[in-house]
Amino acid sequence: MAMRKEKLARLKNDLLTRRENIVVGLRRSTEEWIDSEDLLQADSVDQASADTDRGIAVQIRNRDRVVLREIDEALRRIESGNFGECERCDDDISEPRLKANPSTTLCINCKAELESEGQRFSGRG
Ligand SMILES: [Zn+2]
Repeated sequence: MAMRKEKLARLKNDLLTRRENIVVGLRRSTEEWIDSEDLLQADSVDQASADTDRGIAVQIRNRDRVVLREIDEALRRIESGNFGECERCDDDISEPRLKANPSTTLCINCKAELESEGQRFSGRG
């Protein structure tokens, strides 16, 4: 079930805009750190979170990186033509859902079903 081209183009545009905003934001925060302090050691999050301000900033950056990865993944799937389809039932995934969560591969129904199964079997984790 192929998604309509214009919907896909709209979502792609949206993703590219968001991607750019995140990249700009990450670059800016990095520059601020370079100005104010020694370079952040990107891999030592534990050490960084000892310093509260920095820790929060790192968390935000990490979250941005996660979103960035999700957006990249979504863009790849747009290119390969399987973006926006539920991998479980092949239904179209709704546009608002894709915007809220670009990396999703499940429609809302399947997601809800899997979640209720997950809760039944594994509880809180
Ligand atoms: Zn589904």
